[in-house]
Amino acid sequence: MKDTNSQTLFEEALDRIPGGVNSPVRAFGSVGRTPFFVDKAKGPYLYDVDGNCYIDYVCSWGPGILGHAHPKVVEAVKAISEKGLTFGAPTKGEVELAHLVEDLVPSIEMLRLVSSGTEAVMSAVRLARGYTGREKIIKFEGCYHGHSDGLLVKAGSGLMTESIPDSAGIPEGYARTTLLAEYNNCESVKRLMEEEGHDVAAIIVEPVAANMGVVPPEKGFLEFLRQITLKYGALLIFDEVITGFRLGIGGAQEYYQVRPDLTTFGKIIGGGMPLAAYGGRKDIMSCVAPKGAVYQAGTLSGNPLSVAAGLETLKILADNTQIYTQIDKAAGRIEEAYQKKGIRVNRVGSLLNPFFTQEPVKDYQSAKRADTRKFADYFGYMLENGIYVAPSQFEAMFVSGAHGEEELSRTCRVIEEMPEEFCAK
Ligand SMILES: *Cc1c(COP(=O)(O)O)cnc(C)c1O
Repeated sequence: MKDTNSQTLFEEALDRIPGGVNSPVRAFGSVGRTPFFVDKAKGPYLYDVDGNCYIDYVCSWGPGILGHAHPKVVEAVKAISEKGLTFGAPTKGEVELAHLVEDLVPSIEMLRLVSSGTEAVMSAVRLARGYTGREKIIKFEGCYHGHSDGLLVKAGSGLMTESIPDSAGIPEGYARTTLLAEYNNCESVKRLMEEEGHDVAAIIVEPVAANMGVVPPEKGFLEFLRQITLKYGALLIFDEVITGFRLGIGGAQEYYQVRPDLTTFGKIIGGGMPLAAYGGRKDIMSCVAPKGAVYQAGTLSGNPLSVAAGLETLKILADNTQIYTQIDKAAGRIEEAYQKKGIRVNRVGSLLNPFFTQEPVKDYQSAKRADTRKFADYFGYMLENGIYVAPSQFEAMFVSGAHGEEELSRTCRVIEEMPEEFCAK
């Protein structure tokens, strides 16, 4: 290929890769644009193959809490790669990582490493079914738990962006085992539990929903889920693939002081490499093979390079927990800039996003009523001014420790100078 600018690369890609991308939202479809192709990234900045530089608030959809290519993380991966890339046999790093996560996250007594968030959640759900001997699960509209069958109903994230409520290709019988409740609506959970509670293996929830935009749990919601699962003998699974090590070193369960039975991790835990995990109560985790009868395996599970990146990232965070105060304040400044323009913002810590709507956003239905055309105009304006936010109304904006004074003041200025027609309420 001679020309390698984004436009020609995308045209080539369209012929060879479905939709030109390896994950749907990357295609920029809902903002009516074609994607840029990335050359490299460093700290808060992303550079495309056309020579543009952007302040990056996507951060690879969450992993980049330290910014891109943190020198210590890169060094750790380089050093370990000299010793070999994969062995399919246990390594010391895996034990260290399990130890560290168990120290940092309140409910984790045992941990199993896998390669993606999808795999972590799929495995945790299988485990919940194996442990309880029940088939059904309850999930919430607008929560995304990866793309495994049965979790792709009203799943937020790319499905919401692409206006696909339910994926094709999922057997009806499978989807029937997933019961849908409304986020922040305790009544909707109570009704389902009254009817089917004794067949429910688990309630799975994003403790802060961050795949329909950012939607915080209302006061008492997570506590209610804890109580009702205990009442019916079902498990509570927190999908902390985004919130884990993001809202604080102990994740959402520490932030909200609610203890789930099982937790899934992804994104930050891999420090930018493919790594995810599920863990929780020892008696439940002991049901996983080879100790127990719930099967789950992986050729590249606990890959040494991924473990090195994750371990280094978590160590840096654990040794510098002031970073959480820093990114919370930084996100607060960006929030204020939107508010000055009369734009609604939802925020928890360093997770935030503007919603182009007049009403409070507290669930899937209210999120869906946001004006995605206005969002597309806003996205284009930000990009043209050197700021990359997620190309969808229904994703979060991620602030990292690498976003410094210069980047933040530029970001706030660009927001404050936004043409009124994009933000008029
Ligand atoms: C990203 C995400 C997943 C899926 O993780 P992948 O690594 O993309 O498979 C699952 N749950 C939540 C909450 C996520 O944000």
